[in-house]
Parts: sequence; structure tokens; C-alpha cells
Amino acid sequence: NSIVDPIYVVDTDLRVILFNNAFKKQLQDIGLKTESITGQILFNVLPFLSDKTRNEYKGVFESGEDLITEEQVNIGGKEFIAEVRKIPIWEDTKVVRILTFTRDITERRKAEETIRHLAYYDTLTNLPNRTLFNNRLALELSRAQRNQQKASVMLLDLDKFKDVNDKLGHTFGDQLLQSVGQRLTDTVRLSDTVARMGGDEFILLLPEIIDAKDAIKIAEKILDTMRKPFIISDHKLLVTTSIGISIYPSHGEDAETLIKNADIAMYKAKESGRDRYFLYGANSSLPIPF
Ligand code: GH3
Ligand code: MG
Repeated sequence: NSIVDPIYVVDTDLRVILFNNAFKKQLQDIGLKTESITGQILFNVLPFLSDKTRNEYKGVFESGEDLITEEQVNIGGKEFIAEVRKIPIWEDTKVVRILTFTRDITERRKAEETIRHLAYYDTLTNLPNRTLFNNRLALELSRAQRNQQKASVMLLDLDKFKDVNDKLGHTFGDQLLQSVGQRLTDTVRLSDTVARMGGDEFILLLPEIIDAKDAIKIAEKILDTMRKPFIISDHKLLVTTSIGISIYPSHGEDAETLIKNADIAMYKAKESGRDRYFLYGANSSLPIPF
């Protein structure tokens, strides 16, 4: 009874023969009857239990093995996640009772989800971060290799972004980064990945492109959309971007090489005047003849 998690024991007819205070309190909390629980069929005590639960008890009686499940429960409009352990109690060679131990793990799952989000998403823009991008790129490259397809990595860096911070302040700069992230996401397909590498640098993964021409078309489209003014706190702001493009497999067969080469191409775009794309290995930012 001093255990805070609800516990109850059922016999082979699934009648409740023993329970602790926490179980009784849980029933009260969700507005269920708590008189004469002992001897009642479990499914009358907990009317929301499903046939799945019935089969699980049957399974534990037959197999004699512990069963741990996680269940999303909605009781009286309140959602919670419960970890349910069904532990067989033996007498000689037979399972005669099952002890059920339930624990509300809603907070734990929420905390895990928060940690996962912090680990894989950029807090400013809510875009995937470098780690998630690398994971997706690795997956995409093995898929592209299997299917003999091409893919493109694009690195995009804002031009003269320091000026925005200097003239209008860091908070304003942050808002611009958020708007750029949103605009990029709106420009490409849902199956593409837009991530923030850090600072004013974004990275895109475009799977299943046909050839470099395809990637260039997308880069031109991005440059165009970025040239449209951003309206932030009543300020009309013009920004341009520089893009470096690398193509799998011709510009690298692994993630690291593709990103490195996209970076080299991006710096070439910066050097040759900004507001343009550069394809890795090309001599100019003009579309190369195919
Ligand atoms: P360039 O055209 O050569 O890219 O010039 P730039 O001014 O954009 O220079 P660069 O890309 O090297 O520097 C990016 C700047 O972005 C540096 C830093 O002051 C600023 N910055 C980095 N992270 C953040 C951020 O999270 N928020 C804001 N507001 N600014 C950031
Ligand atoms: Mg920059």
C-alpha cells in the first residue's frame, strides 16, 4: 500500500482478488465505483479495457511470461501514457494469478520528446539541425545508391547578414533567420529537407533529382524567392543569398564530401559577387552546358 503506482491481482477468471490503495485512488480520480471491488471481474471494474487487454491476460496465463506494454489511455477526456506490467504468479507448475502494475509515464515521455526535439531541431527556426540533417543525408545516400539515383546538397548563406544585425539588432536578425527558414521550406517540396547549419547558413537535401540541371533550376527559384522583400516589424528588408551545390554521386559519394564540396562552391559564389549559385567543379556561376 505504500507503493504510489496502482497494483492489482486477478485470478484465472480475471476477477480482482487484491489491490492497493493507489489503485483505489486511481478509480476514484477517474470517477469509477470503488465499492466491493474484490471478487469483481476486472472488465467491470475498469470498463474502458479492450479485448486487446483480455488477450494479453490470456497470453500471460498461457506463456507464463511477463508482459510489458505501453498504452495511450484516454479517460474522462484526460490523455495519459501508461506503462503496464503483467507479472504471472505461479503455484507449482501453473500460473494462477497475474499481478498488474501500472505506472503513469506521461511526464517521462514528454521529457523524452523535448530532449529529442532539442537534440535534432534548431531552437530559433525549429528546422532540423545539423545532426538530423546528417542522419537524413546518410539515409538518402544509401537509398540513392541502391536505386542508382542522384541527389543534391545545397548550402545557402545569407549575404552581408552581419549588416542586418549591426543596423537593426540581433533580435531583428533572429526574426529574419526565422523568416528565411520559413520561406525556404515553402519553396521546396515536402520530401526535401531544409536544415539550419548554424549562423546564417542553411542546408538543403534534395533527393531524387534527375541531373544537375534540376538542382540548378531549384537554386534559381530559391534565389528568386529570397530576393523578394521580407517585412519584419514594419521594416522592408532586401536580402540576397549565395548557394553552393553538390551532386551525388559525381561530387562525392559520402555525406562529408558532398557537404564540403557544396561549401567550396558556396564560397565561390560569394567570391564572384554573391546573390548567385555555384555548382561544385564549375568554372562560373552561369548554367554549364549539358
Ligand atoms: P557574407 O556575405 O560573407 O556571408 O557576409 P555575412 O555578413 O553574412 O557574414 P557571415 O555569413 O560570415 O556571418 C554570419 C553572421 O551571422 C555572423 C553572426 O554575427 C551572425 N549570426 C550567427 N548566428 C546568429 C543568430 O543566431 N542570430 C543572429 N541574429 N545573428 C547570428
Ligand atoms: Mg553570411
